Amino acid sequence: HHWTQTWTFLDGQWHEGNVPIMGVRTHASWLGTSVFDGARAFEGVTPDLDLHCLRVNRSALAMGLKPVVPVEKWIELAHAGVKRFAPGTALYIRPMYWAEFPGPRTVDADPESTRWCLSVYEAGMPDPARGAAVTLSPFRRPTIECAVTDAKAGALYPNNSRALVEAHGRGFDNAVLCDMLGNVAELATANIFLAKDGVAFTPAPNGTFLSGITRTRSIGLLREAGVEVVETALRWSDFRDADEVFTTGNYSKVAPITRVEARELQPGPVFRKARKLYWDFAHG
Ligand code: PMP
Repeated sequence: HHWTQTWTFLDGQWHEGNVPIMGVRTHASWLGTSVFDGARAFEGVTPDLDLHCLRVNRSALAMGLKPVVPVEKWIELAHAGVKRFAPGTALYIRPMYWAEFPGPRTVDADPESTRWCLSVYEAGMPDPARGAAVTLSPFRRPTIECAVTDAKAGALYPNNSRALVEAHGRGFDNAVLCDMLGNVAELATANIFLAKDGVAFTPAPNGTFLSGITRTRSIGLLREAGVEVVETALRWSDFRDADEVFTTGNYSKVAPITRVEARELQPGPVFRKARKLYWDFAHG
């Protein structure tokens, strides 16, 4: 595998490349006790970097880890990492915590052994002209009683990974996962919106999916601009009948869905408005 250029702040210094961070007996490498976040630098801006840094600390607490890095320190390190690349390079900024040692019962983690690093790596912005095709996944999102869904935890992602692999195998770019009640939750990599008659709809947070920072930001910007946004329970049939479907997430920001199962869709006015509002905010 070829990794794009990567810089990581670990144990007091910057390292280049895919620097090893875990041993074979590290609790996180064996039992998945890691949390992370993802922010972006692109076109010279880092929108909502502070919120991503705040969230990784909240995720650590939810996972039973110790958020030992103050938010201001994360932000400072992120900017220092960005400066290691040519100005304007599109980058992904990834703070991360994990448990090094087990606790007294082995499967439990020792919060006092929390370690952390921050990586910054090259990641080009996806072309919005290339819309994505999505399908309904046979896999579902767990509830808060079944998994640490209030953390952006690495251990939640194997479920999304198998949903993506299964969808790719059927010729789709991404998978829509429902919660256990059969309401649409999110995509495997982003939050989901639809538009019908000029009104935007998106699943109401119910503890089964990440209520994304880009999602919350986009809802606020759309409402300020006078677009009605309804957060409610949505069924898969609502997406199949929608005028527009689009996604929000730190990686692609606001991106169009151009096929839902066999049905072709065009990027529409609500999507275009949401994307422009986000870009204006980011540069604002
Ligand atoms: N859902 C999942 C599963 C994600 O991985 C992401 C990307 N972090 C999102 C939603 C979008 O969240 P955010 O806007 O905070 O990046």
